[in-house]
Amino acid sequence: MSKKFYITTPLYYINDVPHIGHSYTNVAADVLARYKRLAGEDVFFLTGTDEHGQKIEQAAKERGETPQQLADRVVQNFKGLWSRLNISNDDFIRTTEQRHKKAVTAFFLKLYENGAIYRGKYEGWYCIPCETYCPKGQVEDQKCPACGRQLEWLEEDGYFFRMSAYADKLLDYLDANPEFIMPENRRQEIVNIIKGGLKDLSISRSTFDWGIPLPISDKNEIIYVWFDALINYITAAGYSEDNERFEKLWPADVHVVGKDILKFHTIIWPTMLMAAGLKLPVMVAAHGWWTVEGKKMSKSSGNAVSPDDIISQVGVDGYRYFLLKAVPFGQDGDFSNTALIRQVNSSLANDLGNLVSRTIAMVNKYFEGNVPAAQEAQEGDNPLKETALRIIPEVDKSMCRLEFHNSLISIWELIGECNRYIDKTAPWVLFKEGRIAELGNVLYNLLESIRFVTILVSPFIPGIAETIWTHLGMEEPLCEQRLSDLEWGKLPESGRIIPPAEPIYARIQE
Ligand SMILES: [Zn+2]
Repeated sequence: MSKKFYITTPLYYINDVPHIGHSYTNVAADVLARYKRLAGEDVFFLTGTDEHGQKIEQAAKERGETPQQLADRVVQNFKGLWSRLNISNDDFIRTTEQRHKKAVTAFFLKLYENGAIYRGKYEGWYCIPCETYCPKGQVEDQKCPACGRQLEWLEEDGYFFRMSAYADKLLDYLDANPEFIMPENRRQEIVNIIKGGLKDLSISRSTFDWGIPLPISDKNEIIYVWFDALINYITAAGYSEDNERFEKLWPADVHVVGKDILKFHTIIWPTMLMAAGLKLPVMVAAHGWWTVEGKKMSKSSGNAVSPDDIISQVGVDGYRYFLLKAVPFGQDGDFSNTALIRQVNSSLANDLGNLVSRTIAMVNKYFEGNVPAAQEAQEGDNPLKETALRIIPEVDKSMCRLEFHNSLISIWELIGECNRYIDKTAPWVLFKEGRIAELGNVLYNLLESIRFVTILVSPFIPGIAETIWTHLGMEEPLCEQRLSDLEWGKLPESGRIIPPAEPIYARIQE
């Protein structure tokens, strides 16, 4: 049985318009999911939408819709973008689905049974857009410390989750599992928050209706939207519905999140799981924020860039490549149109594109499209083979640490090596001098390197990889390739015709 790999993105709040940040999260998760499939693992990749809460209720009211109608309409903004971005999720969960309501109800009752939920009183400054209470010490001028908007003073008599009881246990867990929070520099922030003391969490709401009803209340109460939303990760794994599946899938291997919601995933969520007696996720990986042309993205400054505009400019693969190459995962990044175009032209059109079209043109010109035979090389005689074999473990190490940009750097080392190899061996001279066996060997090495490159870049730029694969005339589909196919010399020789190639990535005009 192959190893399972369960990876999730956050649930996106359905009232938001998808922006660069959302697409970054999903592309990063998608690349990792595709890489793990390539590694032969049994991948389950989940994304979805968070559809409850007061904001949705208000937005629907303003438009004269029911909240469900609004959700059904705007969920397409996300589903459509993921399909255009070639996101290979295996499931898409919506918190308004029946399966989720069932799981949330079962989970709530489990915690209640375990004594982790009690009835109490709560008052404090509440931010409606963030759907969260703000600690008194952080509130200035009745403004939300997270989003800067006006806070409201709320007093609620409701249910609480005994989060404070799990602080020590959570600290022990963080100690014993240094890789639970990635990247490393975010870990200390969380440890400090926990050491500062955890409060119990108010998990019921009674001032609005749009949510999952509290199973034990006779009043009109619903479950706090974050408490509801986090449970999606176990809903989709079969919690309370399919034990065998749940045992196989849970715990999640990676929750990919933005740094703004790291606290929810590394404090609230793990303590909820502890209270239910469930295992904790293996890793929560937080990425940074995106600015646009050096400025914070916001509706008011009008600098929000639509992912669809970027796609229409540089293509899906150009966008995917830029997102993961431009910024090391975990750090903040800046989107600049000049940098975008420079990057895709240099890496995709020049380095990769030219390598493929030059090589294929020469195979057509000198061998009528037949794959030539390789020659036995002396040890240390084949720089392409050496580089190709060297980068495989490097790429793997970087991928497992979510250092996507480093994986790309390693793959581009092989591409660079190939381009230098063409200049150094000068196949046109070999042809002129009639050294056909040598010429064949050079071209075989190039084609074989391109096969390596294509398999390794396929998680990042699946569309371009497919095109190159077709140009290589490979019979087995690219999606069936595995890392174990990266053995030097597996490219079949002779007899196969390689058709002349169109440019695989057209240069973008600045
Ligand atoms: Zn706020």
